[in-house]
Amino acid sequence: MNQDKLYKFLAFNNEIRVYSVESKEVLLKYLKHVECSPIASVAIGRLMSAALMMAGMLKDDEKLLLSIDSDGPIQSLKAEADAYGTVRGFVKNPLLDVSYNEFGRLDVAKAVGHGILTVKKQLNLKEPFTGSCELVSGEIAEDISYYFGISEQTPTVVALGVNISKEGTIDNSGGFIIQMLPNASEEAYQYVEELLKKVTSVSELLNKFGPEQLVHELFNDATLVESYPVRFQCSCSRRVAINILKRLEYSDLETIINEDHKAEVTCNFCNRKYHFTEEELKQILEEKRCEA
Ligand SMILES: [Zn+2]
Repeated sequence: MNQDKLYKFLAFNNEIRVYSVESKEVLLKYLKHVECSPIASVAIGRLMSAALMMAGMLKDDEKLLLSIDSDGPIQSLKAEADAYGTVRGFVKNPLLDVSYNEFGRLDVAKAVGHGILTVKKQLNLKEPFTGSCELVSGEIAEDISYYFGISEQTPTVVALGVNISKEGTIDNSGGFIIQMLPNASEEAYQYVEELLKKVTSVSELLNKFGPEQLVHELFNDATLVESYPVRFQCSCSRRVAINILKRLEYSDLETIINEDHKAEVTCNFCNRKYHFTEEELKQILEEKRCEA
């Protein structure tokens, strides 16, 4: 059963907004579709948690895509989420080798390396928004915190955690975001600064308190504003796959029909495969001609 939920709070005399999320089931469902090494699981789990919380800042029908393009072995990571709590993810190199850092933890920074974080938002009645920044650590949470400061001028702390046992089972996944509101006082900033010195492991906090109680532990006046379930769900469909085929050149489509006699379109996000017979491909070619 899906227990994953996202929580939105106001805290510190309404000077601070806090988001928290549990995304263990989201990650488990993703891993059913896409085979990932432990390090890739941690990286995509972190990014999907962040995307869910950032999409929680949007309005109905708005969407957000978080992408990391890097020179590290993971190459590219994406997570797309909407304000209704659905998310999907993509890892370019999901089977990359496990690597541990000096603390015996999976070394996400090494897997990600140097690169760019991009945030694209599809907004209602507004032009799409795109912001980006260089990765500062490759640990994902710090990179997104930096992005908020640089690109959106909103002082924000992002904390993300995925805990995987030595046997490879996912113990938990989730995180929290602390965002300073424009009215935030010097005391609010100081409180958060002191707080962060005490937070060492997001996974441990999640294990101990869960995503809702965790925020009450951080802020004793935290007031829950809203909470809703979150889930992994891919928006791909046979219709989307047909449109991908239609965008091919006529000559390429004809070559597929005449030489392969069939086609397979694989969704980059969930790995679902859509198969097309020669007859179906001929029909797609015909439709493409009619629409031209
Ligand atoms: Zn899909």
